[in-house]
Amino acid sequence: MLYEGTLSKMETEFGYPIQYYLVFESSFLNVNQLLGKEVEISFRGYQCLNCSKKKKIYRQGFCYDCFYSSPAVGDWIMRPELSTAHLGIADRDLDYETRVQLTPHVVYLALSSDVKVGVTRKTQVPTRWIDQGACQAVSVVEVPNRYLAGITEVALKDHFVDKTNWRKMLQNEVLDLDLLTEKTRIFEFLPEEVQPYFNAELDEHLILNYPVIEHPKKVTGLNLDKTPNFKGKLIGIKGQYLIFHDGTVFNVRSFEGYVVAINV
Ligand SMILES: [Zn+2]
Repeated sequence: MLYEGTLSKMETEFGYPIQYYLVFESSFLNVNQLLGKEVEISFRGYQCLNCSKKKKIYRQGFCYDCFYSSPAVGDWIMRPELSTAHLGIADRDLDYETRVQLTPHVVYLALSSDVKVGVTRKTQVPTRWIDQGACQAVSVVEVPNRYLAGITEVALKDHFVDKTNWRKMLQNEVLDLDLLTEKTRIFEFLPEEVQPYFNAELDEHLILNYPVIEHPKKVTGLNLDKTPNFKGKLIGIKGQYLIFHDGTVFNVRSFEGYVVAINV
């Protein structure tokens, strides 16, 4: 079977294990069904996820022009503490920013290798945790906007990492600890204006189980710009990565906006 289309991050469905889908314009593929099978990925071109033009992808699935003009990729996305919609101040498009920023956000601890702190919109739980390959995660506070979540994350970065170590995550080198215990020690680190939102009882604690036959000992990222054609046996899916038997790993999210053919 040949599937062809523009890559966007895999859709997921919580379950034991988590289900993954590659969704193209006119077809979709349940990736779990490909485990243990040979899969070939070929680069065919580009299509910007924002303007749909066949322009080279610059970052996050967007062409250069869209990356620097679309409100969907403002600086406050990666750095939530820069959010200003709660003050009525626009970055690129106040309507858009109001819609996205002034909704309930969750600050969480996730365990993917080390304990990481992160921010997400409440509606993105547990999707965000799955996308990061966390094996467990717990909500720490729920706040009414992105700014408050952002300043909480900044405060907690002094005590926890804020980046996922993707190699360790894929190799399943995970610290052995309990996130609920970690959560009990964070109250004193919270910014004063966020402390009222802390609820020790609110334990949105999730254990996540990924479809992985075998974790690789060593991993090498597949770069479609350098290797436009790759074939290998799929042995796992974790985070937004496809894991192959030879240790090659393909981060679907890094190649959003790339048009590919997938032969299975
Ligand atoms: Zn574009």
